Amino acid sequence: MAANTSTTVPHLTNWVNNEAKVCVAGSDVSYLAVTTPHTGATIARVPLSHAADVDEAVGAAQAAYPGWSGRTFKDRAQFLLRFYRVLTDHLDELAVLIVSEHGKTRDEAVGEIKKGLETLEYAISLPQTAAGRILEVSRGVTCHDTRVPLGVVASVVPFNFPFMVPFWTLPIALGCGNTFVLKPSEKVPLTMDLVARLAAGVFPPGVLNLVHGDKDVVRPLLEHPQVRAVTFVGTTKVAELVSRECRALNKRCLALGGAKNHLVAMPDCDVELTAQDVVNSYTGCAGQRCMAASVLLVVGSQPQLVEAIIAKSRALRPGSGPREVGPVIDHASRDRILDYIKLSAKDGAELLVDGRTHPDFAQIATTCPEGSWVGPTVILHRQPADAALHDEIFGPVLSILQVDTPEQALAIENANPYGNAACIYTTSGAVAQHFTGRFRAGMIGVNIGVPVPREPFSFGGIEASKFGDMDITGDGGIEFFTYRRKVTTKWGAPVEKSWLN
Ligand code: NAD
Repeated sequence: MAANTSTTVPHLTNWVNNEAKVCVAGSDVSYLAVTTPHTGATIARVPLSHAADVDEAVGAAQAAYPGWSGRTFKDRAQFLLRFYRVLTDHLDELAVLIVSEHGKTRDEAVGEIKKGLETLEYAISLPQTAAGRILEVSRGVTCHDTRVPLGVVASVVPFNFPFMVPFWTLPIALGCGNTFVLKPSEKVPLTMDLVARLAAGVFPPGVLNLVHGDKDVVRPLLEHPQVRAVTFVGTTKVAELVSRECRALNKRCLALGGAKNHLVAMPDCDVELTAQDVVNSYTGCAGQRCMAASVLLVVGSQPQLVEAIIAKSRALRPGSGPREVGPVIDHASRDRILDYIKLSAKDGAELLVDGRTHPDFAQIATTCPEGSWVGPTVILHRQPADAALHDEIFGPVLSILQVDTPEQALAIENANPYGNAACIYTTSGAVAQHFTGRFRAGMIGVNIGVPVPREPFSFGGIEASKFGDMDITGDGGIEFFTYRRKVTTKWGAPVEKSWLN
């Protein structure tokens, strides 16, 4: 809801040239209320920037580019190292903002900051990893290549990781010599607002710029002629749209979309480990992770495993502490999730744990109706066609489907249009090898329900989870944010020949 009402909550600004920058429209600019999902209270107002604001930020980034790209990798790494120190000094402050604006538990907030900082560590090591190659291609002729930055690059990010997802791209892009414009999610703008404030004391002006706003500011950013490359992370529909638009403009683009991750539990799995891991995977960050467990395919009858999942799900409480589950981002999300629960029951599925009547969650939903609370939910499906088994729900909901054979499980996983992550739970190495070689997904877990690759490995799915040719983070990030300049050199005849003359 856009509003110009002035209240005591902070009104955020863009960050351009290391300065807080009120939108070009001045007092005519509209603001959106940023609410905390715990209670629905407004905690800030975020400006809805326009094309003129994009122009200003990209202009600053373009002006900073010659100086920043002219520095060596080692020199830029020193700036990133200082940035790392400043961010770690403010880790608590950042975690408080994430808990407040997103609703994560404190441990989840700290976890995502630490994961984001890992990409920054990786970027600090770029002088060791980004070296080019050299080869004598024929007698007296050498070919070498160097990594050259692209120019001004832009990232558009989702709500579910206010710190980590921007840090998938920002450190490597800057370390490679690009200058940067970030468009944070309008639902969680406060974390990146603090990051921009901290970055202003570290980087030269114009190197890192931030433009707030909603979907309407994305098109001017993509279309800006000085923006050379775009990364996007969000829903599949928008990822595809952004990717198509960038391709039409002949811009490099990596757009990560949604997911529907399948986990397979074999009859020989370790019941305790599997149950705990599945519950952590589907309820962590209230299920709002592209790596979350969505569908558990149980091979054969495994009542002990299902009972353990039910017990662990029922034991969870709402809150921000350990073994607690936070709210989902907003009412629209909450209502969408509740609709899927209702629909599943209508389709004949059994609600083994019902998030609507889950003790404590039902109570907090009643006492705090402006919050966005949904209790952990476990659905046992009888029909493979149920919508909840196919659509991305993005909430603390686990769908269980029993299958007779491992091959049926593989066929169901392979038929799903997303290809983000998949996992096999087994105590047999041979079975694990069979599945890891046959799952159609970019990231695969063996007894790990959230198989996030850590640096130097890159992150990325396939098919409807990713539009673009490379992966994000790790060496995929270096590849994305640079092009290879190939130089072929010949200095006259080989020296020994001239000696003969
Ligand atoms: P979203 O697509 O609604 O928004 C993402 C960003 O795009 C936001 O900054 C938003 O302002 C902007 N946006 C929204 N609609 C737009 C439009 N029509 N045109 C241009 N820009 C638009 O996504 P979200 O709800 O913020 O994030 C959740 C989604 O992100 C889930 O689907 C989740 O799976 C996905 N996600 C994927 C990954 C991955 O690695 N594949 C990682 C994190 C999140």
